[in-house]
Amino acid sequence: MATTLAPVHLNRKVEEFLSQKRKMLIGGQWVEAASGKTFDTFNPATGEVLTCVPEGDREDIDRAVKAARKAFEEGPWPEVSPAQRGRLLLKLADLVDKNHEELAELETLDNGKPVFFSRIADVPATADMFRYFGGWATKVEGTTVPVSMPGAKYLAYTLREPIGVVGQIIPWNFPLIMASWKLAPALAVGCTVVLKPAEQTPLTALRLGELILEAGFPEGVVNIVTGFGETAGAALAAHSHVDKIAFTGSTEVGKLIVNAASGNLKKVSLELGGKSPNIIFPDADLKNAIPGSANAIFFNQGQCCTAGSRLFVHKNIFDEVIDGVAAFTKNFRIGPGIDPANNLGPLISQEQLDRVCGYLDSGAKEGAKTVVGGHKIGDKGYFVEPTLLVDVRPDMKVVREEIFGPVVAAIPFSDPNEIAASANATTYGLAAAVWTRDLSTAHRMAAKLRAGTVWINCYNVFDSALPFGGYKQSGWGREMGHDALELYTEVKAVCAQI
Ligand code: ADP
Repeated sequence: MATTLAPVHLNRKVEEFLSQKRKMLIGGQWVEAASGKTFDTFNPATGEVLTCVPEGDREDIDRAVKAARKAFEEGPWPEVSPAQRGRLLLKLADLVDKNHEELAELETLDNGKPVFFSRIADVPATADMFRYFGGWATKVEGTTVPVSMPGAKYLAYTLREPIGVVGQIIPWNFPLIMASWKLAPALAVGCTVVLKPAEQTPLTALRLGELILEAGFPEGVVNIVTGFGETAGAALAAHSHVDKIAFTGSTEVGKLIVNAASGNLKKVSLELGGKSPNIIFPDADLKNAIPGSANAIFFNQGQCCTAGSRLFVHKNIFDEVIDGVAAFTKNFRIGPGIDPANNLGPLISQEQLDRVCGYLDSGAKEGAKTVVGGHKIGDKGYFVEPTLLVDVRPDMKVVREEIFGPVVAAIPFSDPNEIAASANATTYGLAAAVWTRDLSTAHRMAAKLRAGTVWINCYNVFDSALPFGGYKQSGWGREMGHDALELYTEVKAVCAQI
């Protein structure tokens, strides 16, 4: 059951931030939308309005792209040395740390997630990402290349140059972290950016914009336009003066981005949906595998692209695992994330609640059995019970489609040699996990699973240094780690006859 909101004293700076009319960041200035329109952002725990932000549209995207283009071409940004870019990113990381509590509370109010997680995960991971790529700024190198063309001698080398003006569109499930995954590598290599946060969660990106200016990034290097996907997002993806678009969100919108980007053939990277298999072998250490598998699906209310939403369990331990995961859900205190006593928050919106409840209905109609959960909670805020389904078939919607909520379908298996094929029977390929004590099983499975990340005896372990991205319809390209530098650079071959 949802708890009631205990009296919570918000950080003074959060109250101040919410009490002022928010503006968006274009060319170093805080501005309103050209149309003067605004839209509200809501607290998903209560459905109440937190504040309003500018409703940016095509004209604002155009202004922001012009500012980013000017900053990229005229300066001072092109003259800022790699070492200085690195220092700016390190300063930004320090400012994120310094404003830790304010950012954590703001993230929780806007997104709904438990403040415990905003404090220990979202804000520190954001600072870490800026720090990690701050280190890379001075290490983006080309190569020298032997040229064998007869008749003369040549000196040839490559330069790795910033790709230019980058449009970045991010989702609402990890608003600050997603902003840092996008901004940090782009800024490290010297790009300029127009960032469009999700309409559901614009607040921490705007606060981050203030910190970016405070850190000393020149005007126009980072522009932040708040607005809706179909208008501002679509205008950014289609803009002919944007050199690259980086997108995280649904596979459906990812395909729209690819089409929109085709006008000027801008480069595209995509981090999309998933229906990740989480596989428990009969020799697994169930003390870890059971809570690990429950958290694999229920963390962030299941609103993770990596959510372990298909739980494959060997038939010999199926009942024990099902009982264990069902019992684990009793540990959740569900309620407003801003109350530190709660460890499971609301879904992001009414729309998302309707979508998840639609899947619960469809599972029931198609014959799935609900072991635990299965209903929305209360009528204030967007809460839903963590749900475990069994008796599912591969053709059911709850097994095939990404739900993006706390709903897991458990499937028994008997032949360990066939499990990789079942796990791979999806259009997605973002993440997967195996739980086993057998090293050979673990690494054979890691090789067989068609997914960008495979966790062994753990789940949802991320690091700024670990590349992340999808096979198949889960995306194009890898974020984080040094692979991310490739998303934001062009390679130039220079060849001189000597
Ligand atoms: P979700 O289904 O998780 O809300 P979306 O893929 O709809 O994810 O949204 C992720 C981001 O994509 C958000 O910033 C949203 O505004 C943006 N977006 C949605 N539709 C479009 C579109 N047609 N073009 C560009 N961006 C879009």
